[in-house]
Amino acid sequence: MLLKSSLSRRRLLTGAPSFALFSGLAAPLLAAPAALTSETLLLPRNVTAPGKGPRVVICGGGWGGLSAARHLREELPDAEIIVLERNPIFWSCPMSNKWLIDVVDTAFLTHDMLHPAQKWNYSLVQCEITGFDRAAKTVSTSKGKVAYDFLILAGGIRNAYDVWFGEDQAAAEYTRQNFGSAYIPNSEHIALKNKIHNFKGGTIVMTLPPPPHRCPPSPYERACVMAWHFKTHKIPAKIIILDPKPQIGPIGQGYRQAFEELYPDIITHVPNAKVKEVDPWNKKISTEAGDFSFDDAVFMPPHQAADMVWYADLIGRTDEGRPTGWADMDPRYFTAREDEDVYIIGDSMGAISPHFGHYPKSAHVANYIGKIVSRNLAQRVRGEEVLAELPDNLCYMLVNGAPREAISVQFTYALGQDNQVHQTQIDVDVRTPDLLAEDFVWVDGMFNDFLR
Ligand SMILES: Cc1cc2nc3c(=O)[nH]c(=O)nc-3n(C[C@H](O)[C@H](O)[C@H](O)COP(=O)(O)OP(=O)(O)OC[C@H]3O[C@@H](n4cnc5c(N)ncnc54)[C@H](O)[C@@H]3O)c2cc1C
Repeated sequence: MLLKSSLSRRRLLTGAPSFALFSGLAAPLLAAPAALTSETLLLPRNVTAPGKGPRVVICGGGWGGLSAARHLREELPDAEIIVLERNPIFWSCPMSNKWLIDVVDTAFLTHDMLHPAQKWNYSLVQCEITGFDRAAKTVSTSKGKVAYDFLILAGGIRNAYDVWFGEDQAAAEYTRQNFGSAYIPNSEHIALKNKIHNFKGGTIVMTLPPPPHRCPPSPYERACVMAWHFKTHKIPAKIIILDPKPQIGPIGQGYRQAFEELYPDIITHVPNAKVKEVDPWNKKISTEAGDFSFDDAVFMPPHQAADMVWYADLIGRTDEGRPTGWADMDPRYFTAREDEDVYIIGDSMGAISPHFGHYPKSAHVANYIGKIVSRNLAQRVRGEEVLAELPDNLCYMLVNGAPREAISVQFTYALGQDNQVHQTQIDVDVRTPDLLAEDFVWVDGMFNDFLR
């Protein structure tokens, strides 16, 4: 849905932005490379049009960042687009629960990130983002500083183990290493798959993060695929889902039926189980719904905006002055409230509406907002009125391994008379093979959009 913005003269840039581009060529390497320092100048090759258009630096090459890069190239052919990403390869979290029980293989989830960078002609720099100087308009990275005209923060989420363990880094690291959540693209997914396939029996505890968190229906899907594996391989396993919410949701009825009809002896869902204390060494967890011992665990700690949003000092505050954990941003234009040259997209985004809080933290939304922000940025640079747009959302969740059946949830958004965004949620609770087929069509369309 396209809405004409009621505002905004402040968004109608009268001229082209001022460009502060680094230029020059790196000296050929004749000896061992000098150690990188924080002052090392990052000189990306493959820069399409240095000096002609604005330099847009996209921090994070996941679903939101790579979608933005591709669409920005089309919207602003002259822009210099640089994606900064720590991972050497794209790993899709969507479909990764299905991969745990071999519905798709590893090649299906992993993608060469150089291909889209070449195809859509942007620079991809593999580095760790370590800080920002918003006054000087630079990003600090493990390979040096990069100047920008516009910044797009697309870093996803951080696992906020500190909410559980405070300053105790040892406990956090031990938990991550042994009971990792596999909710961020990294090797925890492989560790989890090995854990499931090598499990000999006993009790596995799974904590859900308190809302808002990444992909709300997917922890229950995770429980279903694990239960299906244990049931099929006759492994005497119990899965206890410790859910801080009072009830399962979204697609609550569909999941409840799957738990009761398919996995009655395996899955136990415990509502109102907000975590009070975790003792990873002694395998004990205390919650508001009781205390539990476990043989193994999948611990999803609270989710927050990616570290980079904290580094940029763009985290929102409650009325009491406490950090909200999510970006402080304009909910219609996705710019930081404190800095209009910084956009925040994807899971790091802050609250959108008093009616429902956050957009679902999903790949679908990250891709959609990546496109919207590309259009909005291009409108700004061209001196046109910026048009606020609303996304939608769609998620398919596998609940049965044989026959393969999925359930789904869809969200649509509209602007109400109160000028606030309103959400409509449609749960499809009846599990069918057709919904899984639709999931494959969805993911194929997504991969074609910004990866292939
Ligand atoms: C098990 C599971 C199933 C899911 N299923 C679905 C589904 O079916 N449908 C759906 O729509 N969504 C699904 N999701 C959610 C989806 O994966 C996320 O919502 C989506 O990835 C968010 O996109 P993003 O760009 O915000 O973050 P990401 O895709 O995580 O991208 C962030 C990128 O930033 C990089 N980064 C972060 N910090 C730094 C740094 N300091 N330096 C350098 N790089 C950095 C990261 O490496 C990463 O590549 C699922 C998620 C999980 C975990």
